[in-house]
Amino acid sequence: MKYKVNKKGFYGEFGGAWIPEMMYPNIKELRDNYLKILGNNEFNKTFSSLLNDYAGRPSPLYHAKRLSSFYNTNIFLKREDLNHTGAHKINNTIGQILIAQRLGKTRIIAETGAGQHGVATATVCALTGLKCTIYMGKLDIERQKPNVLRMKMLGAEVVPALSGNMTLKDATNEAMRDWINNPIGTYYLIGSAVGPHPYPDLVAKLQSVISREIKWQLKEKTGKIDPDYIIACVGGGSNALGSFYHYLNRKHVKLVAVEAAGKGIDTNESAATTVLGRTGVIHGSKTVLMQNDDGQITEPYSISAGLDYPGIGPFLAYLGKSGRVIFENITDNEALKAAFTLTHLEGIIPALEPSHALALLGKVKFRKNDVIVVTLSGRGDKDMAAYISYLEKQQPDETRI
Ligand SMILES: *Cc1c(COP(=O)(O)O)cnc(C)c1O
Repeated sequence: MKYKVNKKGFYGEFGGAWIPEMMYPNIKELRDNYLKILGNNEFNKTFSSLLNDYAGRPSPLYHAKRLSSFYNTNIFLKREDLNHTGAHKINNTIGQILIAQRLGKTRIIAETGAGQHGVATATVCALTGLKCTIYMGKLDIERQKPNVLRMKMLGAEVVPALSGNMTLKDATNEAMRDWINNPIGTYYLIGSAVGPHPYPDLVAKLQSVISREIKWQLKEKTGKIDPDYIIACVGGGSNALGSFYHYLNRKHVKLVAVEAAGKGIDTNESAATTVLGRTGVIHGSKTVLMQNDDGQITEPYSISAGLDYPGIGPFLAYLGKSGRVIFENITDNEALKAAFTLTHLEGIIPALEPSHALALLGKVKFRKNDVIVVTLSGRGDKDMAAYISYLEKQQPDETRI
């Protein structure tokens, strides 16, 4: 396929492995082995059986009839929210923990922002009996109590990151530092399609199960493999790449990635990386990221902790630059409103992240015969406080439709 990483880990100008020398042996070990492991029969058997029997796949492709008639088109929701632990993140953590085992690792480290990746990692560590350390910004620990408690119950050690703004970027720095200090026996389980090569390729491949299922599910439901649009939200890009992967070469399928505009792209409180960012290096990868004139990374903002990252992965950056993927952005308020629309019409409370993808339904003029797949990357349990506080600020009828 045309959209493929090259041997050095680049997608056009983006990607690579911009890492300190001390991290090189670990990255090299993973790079030299991941394709072999992914191609191995026994690995694939174990991976599929855990995806099915443990995570609950295939996740349904749901024809949302009331939402469809509201927008006067045909909308299918890819229900990653129904996975074990409540999001698409579990697809990646199951795959990577099996790789860690095959590399003989006994200890897992990971970063987390909202705590979804931390929970998914702590879950698979409990499943396999591997030791688990999760780095999380001190501020995020305070903001995401329930997920911190889940990680602890699952047996993980949660270590607060005290540098910078004490959020995801800082947690990632701490996890990388840990890996450098513990070069033997430890595996770094990255949560999105970001970081040095081969992580972006590895995570995209593990999440590609999403689009593999969409193909046969859509065929079963509509008689056609191809929708007109696939829409997904973007933090680092893993659920979007997973949703797009098997459609990249099917040119007539429009692929739309939705970033978080936060309070608006001109407010200094935004996470719309492709609008506000330019090329630079973050967490071992050359990609598009938000930075000031000195090249210092600027703090992103979004109401949704899962989209609150100053970069996007290099694969998605390349797909955006080449025009294959269209980027859009949605504000906090538009996302909140879309979450209530879905809830009231379909009885599904989405996470704040995919509510950004849902909000696009009200901004693009679709044709009546269009078939649109929206990836519902996670469920809304973790976001109840934000939803209730929004509700309390509205006039009585404003959230009804
Ligand atoms: C983490 C997360 C995201 C953002 O991460 P991607 O790697 O861009 O997919 C989106 N939705 C949910 C529910 C998440 O937990």
